[in-house]
Amino acid sequence: MARHQLRHRLLIVALGVWTALIGFSIFWNLSNTEAQIMKLAYTEAQANLNKDISFRRWGTLHGGVYVPITDTQKSVPYLAHVPGRDVETTDGRQLTLLNPASMLRQMMDLYAAEYGVRGRITGLRFLNPGNAPDDWEREQLERFTRGEAREVWAVNQIDGKPHLRYLRAMFMEPGCDKCHAILGYKTGDMRGATGLNLPLAPYLEQVTTAKLNLGLTHVVIWLIGLGGIFWGNWLGANWARERDQAHAALVCHRDDLEKQIAERTAELSESMRAAEAASRAKSTFLANMSHEIRTPLNAINGGLHQLRRSGLPAAQLALLNKIDTAGRHLLDLINGVLDLSKIEAGKFTLTQAALSVRQIVGNLLSMQQERAAEKGLALRADIDPRIPDCLLGDSLRLQQALLNYVGNALKFTDTGSVTLRVRLLEQATDDVRLRFEVEDTGIGIAAEDLPTLFSEFEQVDNSPTRRHGGTGLGLAITRKIARLMGGEAGAESRVGQGSLFWFEGRFAIDHAGPACQPAVDLETVIRRLAEVGRGKRLLLAEDDPINQEIALSLLEDVGLVPDIAGDGRQAVDAAARQAYDLILMDMQMPVMDGLAATRAIRALPGGGRVPIVAMTANAFAEDRQRCIEAGMNDFLAKPVEPQLLYTTLLRILAGTSNPAYSA
Ligand code: ADP
Repeated sequence: MARHQLRHRLLIVALGVWTALIGFSIFWNLSNTEAQIMKLAYTEAQANLNKDISFRRWGTLHGGVYVPITDTQKSVPYLAHVPGRDVETTDGRQLTLLNPASMLRQMMDLYAAEYGVRGRITGLRFLNPGNAPDDWEREQLERFTRGEAREVWAVNQIDGKPHLRYLRAMFMEPGCDKCHAILGYKTGDMRGATGLNLPLAPYLEQVTTAKLNLGLTHVVIWLIGLGGIFWGNWLGANWARERDQAHAALVCHRDDLEKQIAERTAELSESMRAAEAASRAKSTFLANMSHEIRTPLNAINGGLHQLRRSGLPAAQLALLNKIDTAGRHLLDLINGVLDLSKIEAGKFTLTQAALSVRQIVGNLLSMQQERAAEKGLALRADIDPRIPDCLLGDSLRLQQALLNYVGNALKFTDTGSVTLRVRLLEQATDDVRLRFEVEDTGIGIAAEDLPTLFSEFEQVDNSPTRRHGGTGLGLAITRKIARLMGGEAGAESRVGQGSLFWFEGRFAIDHAGPACQPAVDLETVIRRLAEVGRGKRLLLAEDDPINQEIALSLLEDVGLVPDIAGDGRQAVDAAARQAYDLILMDMQMPVMDGLAATRAIRALPGGGRVPIVAMTANAFAEDRQRCIEAGMNDFLAKPVEPQLLYTTLLRILAGTSNPAYSA
């Protein structure tokens, strides 16, 4: 139903209810008014009659009164039978008896003449004919005689005018005998009635006026009420109109806002799409760049390794060392950028494997000792003896974090020492919390630089003439590593007084795992690999001639002579012809890539057993995942570290590994 229709109906209902209320009130008041005014008339009649009766009783009490006989007051003829009716006083005055009825009658006549209220004395039998009852009185006297009532009321027309008639029965008392015994009444008999006729005209006039007044006031009140209802209705309509207008304005505003929001959202999603596309492009670019840089780097580092072993003169060896340092630096840089892109993509995660803090620190010291010695710095380590040797964690990342601190300390210290401390903060049944600290006596860091130190790309010396080089990524990555280990990283330092870099992390205790292996030096690995590898058949799948050559020479150095496949297809064919003990598989190759080739080999009869190790410049964790999914057992990132290659080969060929893939 429309709102105005509803309001219309409400208005009609309100008017109806109001009119009904007023109607009821007027009806109730009018009927009450008449009754109330009539009650006044009854009260007056009653008061009059009471007085008359008392007056008559007073007369009876005294047996009547004697009054002088005059022209107007003769002896009462109806009392002729009463002895002593007329008496003469001793001084000769003539007196006559007025009995109570005569006294009252005279008083009633006087009152009727003066005030219009007519008193009545009547009876079925009477002395005075003037007391004879009219029709109504007779009827009532008969009812009194039958004992049906003792007093009655009625409104009758007398001489064409309305009167209130009131009649009360009268009984014989001892004092009445003197006059009324003659009529045959005894004491206690109903002998007649006293009453009065009260003219009702003044009362009825009053009723009319009151009714008129009531009617008028009700009409006025009704009209005021009607006005109020109409006014309220108008106010309501007005309010509804205003509200509708406000609502319409709001709706308009909301629509406008929604339109704006939709536009903004569209713009935002467009820019988000663009940003995501850019981010994807960046990741792809990073992966490609990494691959492209790693491939030649692999060749450079491998070549250096070969050169070094070929016994060069000292001057060339020094040059070679410089090239080696530059190569390693470049590799660090690529690794840092890769780590950063992984952090940004939320793909920077830690692995969980057996880890020995002592071994890691030992490796690190031996790697950095030479550099420290070059600068004349003392490099030492201090490891809490209570730290268990067999922990679980990501040793590569732990080493990376420590190397970053130690590398920085050596870089920024010219005299004095660098100390690496490992402290046991907490030991629980299943894990330990460790704190790693690297303290140096170097240049220190200003207090204002400390807070931003661990942010990406932040370097204290950002001037174009920077003395120390670096990317400003190391500390950010270290903090990320510490957080992934459930800890934090931080630094304390004063300019000129050295620095203390620390990070904390939690490591699970490897209760079930084998005891951590003692560090094995390269020579031992090579010796054992030469023993184990004797007579073993290897296949190298690699398309790049330089990389082929490097890998070949690395393998030949330990007495392994692999077959060579120039692409994935050739590798599958070779594996189909011949059972190999190990296959080294490049990922990106022409004709068929390493992943497809691995799947094809796994599908060959007996192809499920041969261990396949990826050798690739694709260094992302997803690449590793894709290799494992394709059915490979292990993964070596290019440029291949000779020690890592040899340890992996030894592990697999000696059968000590627990291959990730099982057919
Ligand atoms: P990078 O060393 O590659 O520039 P880092 O994130 O490892 O990046 O270090 C950021 C900066 O923090 C450094 O450039 C250097 O200004 C400051 N810094 C780090 N370690 C030390 C230290 N031990 N002594 C003085 N300054 C340091």
